[in-house]
Amino acid sequence: MPPWEAVIGLEVHAQLLTESKLFCPCSTAFGAPPNTHVCPTCLGLPGALPVLNAEAVRLAVRAALALGCELRRGGTSRFARKNYFYPDLPKGYQISQFDEPLAEGGRLVIGEGVEGSSAVRVARITRVHMEEDAGKNLHELAGGSVVDLNRAGTPLVEIVGEPDLRSPSEASAYLRALRDILVFMGVNDGNLEEGSFRCDANVSIRAVGEAKLGTRVELKNINSFRFVERAIASEIARQEELLEAGKHVVSETRGWDEKSGTTYTLRTKETAQDYRYFPEPDLLPLVVDEAALAKARAELPELPEDKRARFVSELGLSPYAASVLTAHPRIAAFFEEAATLHGDAVKVGNFVQAEVLRDVTTRGLHADLPVSAAQVADLLRLVDEATISGKQAKEVYARMRGTPASAASVVAAAGMTQMSDPEAIEQACAKVIADNPKQAESLRLGKVALFGFFVGQVMKATKGAANPPLVNETLRRLLGMP
Ligand code: ADP
Ligand code: MG
Ligand code: ZN
Repeated sequence: MPPWEAVIGLEVHAQLLTESKLFCPCSTAFGAPPNTHVCPTCLGLPGALPVLNAEAVRLAVRAALALGCELRRGGTSRFARKNYFYPDLPKGYQISQFDEPLAEGGRLVIGEGVEGSSAVRVARITRVHMEEDAGKNLHELAGGSVVDLNRAGTPLVEIVGEPDLRSPSEASAYLRALRDILVFMGVNDGNLEEGSFRCDANVSIRAVGEAKLGTRVELKNINSFRFVERAIASEIARQEELLEAGKHVVSETRGWDEKSGTTYTLRTKETAQDYRYFPEPDLLPLVVDEAALAKARAELPELPEDKRARFVSELGLSPYAASVLTAHPRIAAFFEEAATLHGDAVKVGNFVQAEVLRDVTTRGLHADLPVSAAQVADLLRLVDEATISGKQAKEVYARMRGTPASAASVVAAAGMTQMSDPEAIEQACAKVIADNPKQAESLRLGKVALFGFFVGQVMKATKGAANPPLVNETLRRLLGMP
């Protein structure tokens, strides 16, 4: 049997972070009581007309630009009706872009996340288009199903990738890179669990060296990065087994069962549905003109990969530190603010990584940071000025965490100030020497190992507050050491 090669192409549906739906003013907030965010338009009542949400267009254009796509010639795209019947689709059709999508021909750099390889890979993006989400069927009630239409009409971008991926780990690296970009663009909250970032994976295999693509199977709505890898790996194995047994792969849509670690048939595509697409008669073509495009380009936030590169080249961080500190847009902004306030980005970066990140929790675009950037900058300044030691800084941080207290006030309240006054230190050293005449005599006669004893005594006498380099220097002088 030939060695097989996997071919994977991903379709991602990402919810655009608008406050209202794509074609009506209903709220997009997650978690409201069922069927409370609905109106005649998103309920599909006869005669209700859609009105396109400008903010959704702005975010979709931003996503397309961030992925290096070109808007269609003249910036003109069109909405179409995709007709099918489903209980969570009251209109009987979904408004989506079909043969005239918003944007085409982008790229996604996925090198960094790919396991066991540092090579940078670029996957091509086929198209980015806008569409409305459906509602949600809930099959939880004993003996029945209910439908919640709060989600119906929520704006989505669908991002279709070329079949450029060759392994489960490349697929999950692609998804992470894509999520990263959308989150940094402020376009999507990257939340797989709440379904605001959803992935369908198309998987086929072919003999290595074969140019023709094999028959693909579509794996539906897998809601975690871990599951994506596992589902694709299991599907590749299933297809290999089929082909090696002389059977063939059936074109179908399959689901992932996490418990058994296998995929199962949802519906076959052999009787492929004809969606009877036709241009949506209630909406004009969408035109993104030159001025709107120029504005979108000017407002495009820094891409995560550009931010990482800048943290390395301009701020002097290691590539590892740069990637840790750009794990989330709020963390990156927090770090940059503290670095600017303090002045030494490497020092700030080390402290944020070692102390602050331990306490940070993120949810979607939101991050709970335990302190402010100013608190961190001020704290590290106290270390620079030798008011406190690096060790004391950790303690001050622990006390400051979750409070608005300034580093200086915590230091003062705890009586932690490092003793850096030369006179006070000289007094403490002189007293220790006077209290230990025998040891001082032995040291002067050559037993230099006793020096550590004197340092220890001074630190003890000052309750650890004395500035260690100053203590060393003063003791050497008083003991007549070189
Ligand atoms: P559909 O709506 O039928 O799923 P799309 O054009 O929206 O069609 O999506 C096609 C997706 O399937 C793309 O992500 C593409 O990369 C992927 N794909 C197409 N052919 C193959 C194949 N033979 N093996 C794996 N993936 C494929
Ligand atoms: Mg598909
Ligand atoms: Zn509505």
